[in-house]
Amino acid sequence: MLSYRHAFHAGNHADILKHYCLFETISYFVNRNKPFSYIDTHAGAGLYNINSEQAKKTQEYQAGVLKLLNSNLELDKNLFAFKKFLTYFVNQQQYPGSPYIAKTIMPKKELLYLYELHPNDFSILESNMTLNSHKNIKLFHVDGLQGLLSLLPPKVRRAIIMIDPSYEVKTDYVQVAKTVAQAYKKFSTGCYLIWYPLLAQERHKTMLKSLSDISAKYVQAELIVGDIDSDIGMYGSGMWIINPPFLLKNQLSTVLPQMVALLKQDERAHFILNYGLL
Ligand code: SAM
Repeated sequence: MLSYRHAFHAGNHADILKHYCLFETISYFVNRNKPFSYIDTHAGAGLYNINSEQAKKTQEYQAGVLKLLNSNLELDKNLFAFKKFLTYFVNQQQYPGSPYIAKTIMPKKELLYLYELHPNDFSILESNMTLNSHKNIKLFHVDGLQGLLSLLPPKVRRAIIMIDPSYEVKTDYVQVAKTVAQAYKKFSTGCYLIWYPLLAQERHKTMLKSLSDISAKYVQAELIVGDIDSDIGMYGSGMWIINPPFLLKNQLSTVLPQMVALLKQDERAHFILNYGLL
């Protein structure tokens, strides 16, 4: 089933948490000044127009990126840097997806491997990513989880792996956990960022149990914007990050309370920050 299109949701509260974590992680790798690759198993379309019919229909970016950009809160310096990065795009009526964030901040010499299965989003991704041509971007119109397993370990032994499915099918949760366990066996030094939605069915819980059984270093961050029993649907989202950059946990402890203040939809909003083996 491929009915999910990220164009309806780009820039929402879940993207702010996910893309902040990604932005910090890539920036950390860039500052280390050693070669690394970026692998995105569910790339989406790459770049989104926040004036498109899809975006206007749901207006989800209003409760996400626009709240961040329009806030007068004195932001922590890391969140401020992310806000500044997004401002450049929003001023052009755009919102950058995960592969575009990687393409923008990674040195041109580094390799990007992008997987996307939806035929329309794949061709939009192709045109977005090859615009201003970047020779080291490899695009694959195949299943991203299978693609990841055949790619690992990467030629360059340092890599960021972004796993961001739409979880349209309930077996996705099991499949992600199984794939990450297999991937970790092949490449235990990779930095894996796994996104998950918080929905009333709470299917993410079994996936998190399996991820914690991997016995790897991790940070888990959840941003809960509203009440589980309300009618807002996805009431929050989470990131499970294996082998996180040094300091990400500390940065999140300052940034998450600010995200709650900015993105809350009711008084039940809060965050969760856990970690293991760090
Ligand atoms: N990572 C993107 C971002 O942050 O900008 C958003 C990705 S969106 C949540 C999930 C994407 O996964 C959709 O574009 C969907 O078409 C794609 N997809 C679904 N199943 C897939 C699969 N098995 N392999 C690769 N892509 C898939």
